[in-house]
Amino acid sequence: MRALCWHGVNDLRVNDVPEPELVNPRDVVLRVRLTTACGSDLHFIDGYLPTMREGDVIGHEFMGEVAAVGRKVDDVEEGDRVVVPSFVGCGNCGYCRGDLWSLCDNTNPNPELQEPVLGDATAGIYGYTHAFGGYAGSHAEYVRVPHADVNCFHVPDELSDEQALFASDAWPTGYMGADFCDIRPGDTVAVWGCGGVGLMAQGSAALMGAERVVGIDRFPERLRMAREEAGSETIDYTEVDSVVDTLKRMTGGRGPDACIDAVGMEAHGTGLAHAYDRAKQTLRLHTDRGEALRQAIVACRKGGTLSILGVYGLMDKFPLGIVMNKGLTVRTAQQHGQAYVPRLLEHVAEGEMDPSYLATHELPLEDAVRGYDLFKHKEDGCVRPVFAP
Ligand SMILES: [Zn+2]
Ligand SMILES: [Zn+2]
Repeated sequence: MRALCWHGVNDLRVNDVPEPELVNPRDVVLRVRLTTACGSDLHFIDGYLPTMREGDVIGHEFMGEVAAVGRKVDDVEEGDRVVVPSFVGCGNCGYCRGDLWSLCDNTNPNPELQEPVLGDATAGIYGYTHAFGGYAGSHAEYVRVPHADVNCFHVPDELSDEQALFASDAWPTGYMGADFCDIRPGDTVAVWGCGGVGLMAQGSAALMGAERVVGIDRFPERLRMAREEAGSETIDYTEVDSVVDTLKRMTGGRGPDACIDAVGMEAHGTGLAHAYDRAKQTLRLHTDRGEALRQAIVACRKGGTLSILGVYGLMDKFPLGIVMNKGLTVRTAQQHGQAYVPRLLEHVAEGEMDPSYLATHELPLEDAVRGYDLFKHKEDGCVRPVFAP
């Protein structure tokens, strides 16, 4: 079958690879209908995340049709149209039972690659390094889904593939980030980043009752989407002297009740702090550029919530003193998709939110390398390239 494979730093190719097979009786094999690129893929494409191997199939946000079913799978049948969260859950460990699916204790077969750094191991994830389990990714004609009964979610007939696709990762990540903010009527929520996750966080915050949502970015096309699709107010950070001052002004001097960082280690900013981060990152002294996160901490009102969705490596200057003195609550996680997917599909079916506008570019899998190029350089207004294998 055809698949998009990693061959080294900034070297992706569409190759012929063997088709996946049922390995465990609880597996299904999915014929991928749609699969999309994620900002976090850029971390290993750019060489900031180790433990990729040449030939690894990448991709972790996808939906498809069940092609083969293991004999111990009860709730999924051949031909079912399903969406699958990017982290693999087992459904049985204490973390999965506690709806903390990205922390599953059983689905990362390579914990020894994470434990020396994290002190523990996360769940496995499709197409995302051997430290995250070494599972083959979804940018392929077929993908193996372990523990299918807990990882496959049936897509209602009235939903399109595009509407279901983003329930795999971008939307549950954004939704979880808004959920972390315990939004109350009258709240203002500021979101750094108007990429897929940031836009989903903004739409979800509005859905949860935020009175004002502010999206922060520098790309006009993304800021327009934030206004028109998510109903947010926006700040173009290249157009203001200070994002923090602007937010304070917009909130009567108080600051937003909750700040969501949907940027992570690719944070781009202006000024000296950013130049310092960039230089250090280029020298591989640390892996992150924390400009967005620092702004969020300073802007947030006293006693507010800081919700961190951006993916970080090992950042070495988190301003804990500000967090402590302002009494901020910090909440963060890799997405616990399985906890949210049924609710999200319901929101679409009820017409309350439709994430399909993220799919700015639909391409055949053969053009996936070009798709990643558009995505990485944010060319042609690309928010998410979607591949149909
Ligand atoms: Zn993702
Ligand atoms: Zn588990």
